[in-house]
Amino acid sequence: MLDTVTIRTQRTSASRLQHLDPEHIEFGKIFSDHMFVVDYRDGEWQDAQLLPYGDISVSPANSALHYGQAIFEGMKAYKNADGDITLFRPHDNLHRLNASAERMCMPQIPEELFMQGLTQLIRLDAEWVPNTQGSALYIRPLMFATDGFIGVRPSENYRLLIFTCPVGLYYSKPLRVRFEEKYVRSVEGGAGYAKNAGNYGAAMYPTKLAQLEGYNQLIWTDASEHRYVEESGTMNAIFILDGKLITPELSSSILDGITRRSVLQLARDWGMTVEERKVSAVEVMQALSEGRLQEAFGVGTAATIASISVIGYQGHDHELPTPGEDAFSLRAGATLHAIRTGQAPDTHGWMVVV
Ligand code: PMP
Repeated sequence: MLDTVTIRTQRTSASRLQHLDPEHIEFGKIFSDHMFVVDYRDGEWQDAQLLPYGDISVSPANSALHYGQAIFEGMKAYKNADGDITLFRPHDNLHRLNASAERMCMPQIPEELFMQGLTQLIRLDAEWVPNTQGSALYIRPLMFATDGFIGVRPSENYRLLIFTCPVGLYYSKPLRVRFEEKYVRSVEGGAGYAKNAGNYGAAMYPTKLAQLEGYNQLIWTDASEHRYVEESGTMNAIFILDGKLITPELSSSILDGITRRSVLQLARDWGMTVEERKVSAVEVMQALSEGRLQEAFGVGTAATIASISVIGYQGHDHELPTPGEDAFSLRAGATLHAIRTGQAPDTHGWMVVV
């Protein structure tokens, strides 16, 4: 393991920054100039480098391509009013990356290595952190197997890579979603709590079917009965029901979202009742028909909060009330934004200055 982290830097000779139009940033298509790369070989992390962003070469036999030994994270850096660059709860992302690594038989990433690689990368590409309203630098850490070996067993060698891309204001209309009652995203005892590549590839087909029916995404339900809410697409699901915040309790089939954790903390700070428990589709639909469901929304790093306007259930669409100005989801979204941009006090110590 690296005791002190030495990172060799090779700067790009041709920055692509001038091609970035900060007013029109397309999500996930333009990558910042550099990437952080470190390899796990002979049982230790070595050769930490900051390199120009670019293609990499891998063995066609590597177990990430065949058996899905690949994990990732999604996080963001913000520029605040003073021009400081800050990260939102980065240690939580590392913790989850290491939980995913354990589940996929991959090595643990030392905190010092991750934080040094991350912060040095962001500093090197500081000019890529946009400061237009609602924008951020999206950060994608990933780890994958690199052994050139086709047998089904954990790889012995891995690469950790971090790259970034500026993202603009996440403009999204309220979502049309439907309960999924045939396919499942994950199962109890499976790997749904991890951010391993296969979870996302397997979710694409049922999501595509729902999109062909005119929905934006699915509300996943449990694998045994299709009765209880799991998540909303790639976000955690939250309901405001009878004035209480209700969200599915965490389990091995649900990703422990950092936005979820933060929104629940805000609700508790504001004295709301928070219930982490099983929430059935029937309970949600009944509350909606009785006018007791005030809000439903998904929470995650990409959108922060995505309000739900329509829920499809057993072949029928049901409209939700439009959230009023005092809606919890709007207040929570605005508060998280204010904390991230330094306009509200960071009472929980969530922000880390780069
Ligand atoms: N659930 C799934 C399946 C996800 O992929 C994500 C995005 N990471 C989330 C929930 C939300 O997690 P976070 O708030 O940490 O982005």
